[in-house]
Amino acid sequence: MKFQPRASHFIDGEYVEDTNGAAIEVIYPATGEVIARLHSATPAIVEKALNSAKNAQAAWAALSGTERGRILRRASDIMRERNYDLSVLETHDTGKPIQETTVADATSGADALEYFGGLAASLTGEHIPLGGGDFVYTIREALGVCVGIGAWNYPTQIACWKGAPALACGNTMVFKPSETTPLSALKVAEILVEAGAPKGVYNVIQGYGDVGASLVSDPRVAKVSLTGSVPTGRKVYAAAADGMKHVTMELGGKSPMIVFEDADIENAVSGAILGNFYSSGQVCSNGTRVFVQKGIKEAFLKRLSERLAHAKIGDPMDEDVSFGPMVSENQMNIALGYIEKGKAEGARLVYGGERIERDGYFVQPTVFADVTDNMTIAREEIFGPVMSVLDFETEEEVMARANDTEFGLAAGVFTNDLTRAHRIVAGFEAGTCYINTYNLAPVEAPFGGSKMSGVGRENSKLAINHFSEMKTVYVSMNDVEAPY
Ligand code: NAD
Repeated sequence: MKFQPRASHFIDGEYVEDTNGAAIEVIYPATGEVIARLHSATPAIVEKALNSAKNAQAAWAALSGTERGRILRRASDIMRERNYDLSVLETHDTGKPIQETTVADATSGADALEYFGGLAASLTGEHIPLGGGDFVYTIREALGVCVGIGAWNYPTQIACWKGAPALACGNTMVFKPSETTPLSALKVAEILVEAGAPKGVYNVIQGYGDVGASLVSDPRVAKVSLTGSVPTGRKVYAAAADGMKHVTMELGGKSPMIVFEDADIENAVSGAILGNFYSSGQVCSNGTRVFVQKGIKEAFLKRLSERLAHAKIGDPMDEDVSFGPMVSENQMNIALGYIEKGKAEGARLVYGGERIERDGYFVQPTVFADVTDNMTIAREEIFGPVMSVLDFETEEEVMARANDTEFGLAAGVFTNDLTRAHRIVAGFEAGTCYINTYNLAPVEAPFGGSKMSGVGRENSKLAINHFSEMKTVYVSMNDVEAPY
């Protein structure tokens, strides 16, 4: 098998196998073909990975930030040099078109390694002068062993968005990719070692939810960063709380995108396409509730349908293909189930709505109009290529409706009224907002959710605070006064 890795896990600088672990079949979503067979981690593998990370941590933290940063930046360079091969692997792991994976996966991972590699040498505490000559200084310290648990939509990116800031701060990591897309994180681990990361600094073990749970509850673990669904987030957060561990939760969403009559319709349609159909709709921050002001509704739907007819659906390895399969048969069936619910609850099907008759797990880009706030497709995260278009009349009305959700990951507005744009984003209950664009996530900017969509932020300088803590040192320059 062409994509079969040397072994299932990467621990202490090398590939490790334990065939006693439950089988994991890796399936190419475009054909349904098995492209690799792996094993879930046994308790012995979990033990080996955590010991390796624990043993490596003090020496890694003792390197200067410049040295740690140099290794991360070298890894970034290697990832960029191998971008095409890594993208081919990512396309086979996830089914996403090569047109996407060559620009949004290993490159995004490389950005994180480069950015946090660059920051590593500048991570410091501060000096705080006090009265009478006393002072405090703070020491920024690593947390220790961090666990990363990934979703299946951006496996390389998630492995790096968690690993890069963790390692920059002097932590070590055990990363568990999603069982659906286990291959590319192994390449990230290989590349880090090639770039000079000492053994045990970044380990990858495979497994289902039970392996993730055993990592989260282990007393050696200081922090857990999860990318996944809200139900999993609830469980992982609760288990982490038991050990008072630090957490970052990057969870699901049902984000609003508001299009006002004064917006540039072409740009708004582009935003809606990017925010609903990129990666076949399998993006957490997608703006799947598209509120369109009544006066432009039909014009918007007409232009959207015309543009969707140009989506090139097919073999994701064909560079002209812009829309690929869903990640798995299971995920496809979930999306098809929601499409049936949309029809049954009275939404108007404007585009798509069917499985595509070919091998693999292809669902047509699907648009429903006349969706109302209480329909299931407007309330639940679908995580597939299904857009709901809802009508609105006034700004006040749409603001309240946009926020009427338990989620708070992202939100966007298209308008040419400058003050309205800022008023709207000020009112959004969401962690990541967009004005006249959608779904960009540069490493320089914080990314994450409010409400049920998450805790903490990834990327940007803020991520440093989530992977380190401050030690406060009070220094007295005076005699100690005691009452007796
Ligand atoms: P999921 O919640 O089913 O699984 C996520 C990961 O958690 C997997 O690796 C899984 O094995 C592991 N897991 C499951 N149960 C666990 C447990 N009890 N303890 C520890 N680990 C456990 O999510 P998924 O289906 O892989 O991914 C889709 C979800 O991820 C969507 O809800 C999507 O919105 C979300 N997502 C969020 C972001 C973000 O940045 N906010 C990014 C991508 C995906």
